[in-house]
Amino acid sequence: MSQTVEDIKPSYPLFRTDDYQEDLAKKRARVEECYDPERMEEVFQWTTTEEYQALNFQRQALTINPAKACQPLGAVLCALGFEKTLPYVHGSQGCVAYFRTYFNRHFKEPVACVSDSMTEDAAVFGGQKNMFEGLKNAKALYKPEMMAVSTTCMAEVIGDDLNAFINNAKQEGHIEPEFPIPFAHTPSFVGSHTTGWDNMFEGFQRYFTLNAMDDKAVGSNGKLNLVPGFETYLGNYRVIHRMLREMGVDYSLLCDPSEVLDTPADGKYRMYDGGTSQDEMKDAPNAIDTLFLQPWQSVKSRKFVKGTWRQPATDLKIPMGLAWTDAFLMQVSALTGKPIPASLTKERGRLVDMMTDSHAWLHGKKFALYGDADFVLGMTKFLLELGAEPTHVLVQHANKRYKKALEQLCAESPYGWNTQTHIGKDLWHFRSLMFTDKPDFMIGNSYGKFIQRDTLHKGKAHEVPLIRIGFPIFDRHHLHRMTTLGYEGAMYLLTTLVNAVLDRLDEETREMGVTDYNYDLIR
Ligand code: SF4
Repeated sequence: MSQTVEDIKPSYPLFRTDDYQEDLAKKRARVEECYDPERMEEVFQWTTTEEYQALNFQRQALTINPAKACQPLGAVLCALGFEKTLPYVHGSQGCVAYFRTYFNRHFKEPVACVSDSMTEDAAVFGGQKNMFEGLKNAKALYKPEMMAVSTTCMAEVIGDDLNAFINNAKQEGHIEPEFPIPFAHTPSFVGSHTTGWDNMFEGFQRYFTLNAMDDKAVGSNGKLNLVPGFETYLGNYRVIHRMLREMGVDYSLLCDPSEVLDTPADGKYRMYDGGTSQDEMKDAPNAIDTLFLQPWQSVKSRKFVKGTWRQPATDLKIPMGLAWTDAFLMQVSALTGKPIPASLTKERGRLVDMMTDSHAWLHGKKFALYGDADFVLGMTKFLLELGAEPTHVLVQHANKRYKKALEQLCAESPYGWNTQTHIGKDLWHFRSLMFTDKPDFMIGNSYGKFIQRDTLHKGKAHEVPLIRIGFPIFDRHHLHRMTTLGYEGAMYLLTTLVNAVLDRLDEETREMGVTDYNYDLIR
């Protein structure tokens, strides 16, 4: 055997050894019913053509490799941002296993979340019984101070009514009437994980404030509310705290899972850590205003702020890059009367210095990108600020109004005049574009690595390297701890982009005596 106690090999290179190669060949011949390799190659090559792209873009009733996840996943992240709160999903256990592993693999942390395990009988008779048992057991076992309920497809298809079920559970004594249980219906056959976050956040707003508005007055607590949206860069929560503290602003970050998703290894397991308190949520309507850091994905929550809290919910862009961070800080300053401190002005100056230092390497470089609506908008804006050229920009879950805003943004800069925007398209569409209009790099989550592999299979000259920025990032460690918002975030993004360019240049120019005229030490 190739594997011995003295020399333990991981799957690579273990599977390259002779005995494994023989076994794999036998398996392929006997049970895999593979197509002829030549035919497979022929089809592969066809999928890289313009002809195939035209057919691919006519596809209507099928999604392949979606550039989004489902609603309850977003609802779970939202619930994790509240103090001592257990996310509770009414529906199938398999869905919750998926949400938990998705977050485990991204954050490298255990993620507490329960389901009431609906199976066939619940699908026929409704899931109320599961919910009665589930709420009681989850509270007894995991001792949360709040449970936030969302739903999977199964509960939505049969039409389970969360409001009625939770009220019944309280009336029939399965759970104390005063125990807080905000909820949101999160049907996955519409929207995406960002819609689910928005729905769940509105569930918190409704639960804590809808029937408690009589004694509230806008501005009476002198604070500013900030709502992060579906945010998976933990550094972004920290940079928002830091910038507002430096400005001396009194604020509430409404939803903050940065502690529970980054607990220290000190021998003590914490199921709950940090998070926005119930009192902060109750007090939120008394703030001067509520700013949404990812407004395109926060439609319902923003409407609630305007309609019920009677706050302006001042319009903002995601604070990514230079200009939109400037706009964010100036807006905070205008609303609170606090000046922007010298420390942030200095930080801005450092970012501008970095941008000029790296400009020669990024100017004119072509990037294709995909991801969530606000992230993609902010990333596109920053690329334009750097003099880089976004070629194809793809957002699966967005509307026509968003597409117009994205196109307008690109039209405002000469670097964006050739940008093509794709709304409602998936990563199989994106793959076609990488073959027919090759950029220098693509920017997106870990799933792009398969597109990189495919482009490389066509030949080294066709390879499109992936720069991992977005969600999820499963195959690299600790990137979720980084920061993409504010000047600090722009510094991280710039560092990542320019070093990807330089790494690639090294890779392409290190052949001794052939291409190494550009293999330099100082750049
Ligand atoms: S799409 Fe529906 S069935 Fe699939 S994981 Fe999400 S909730 Fe569950």
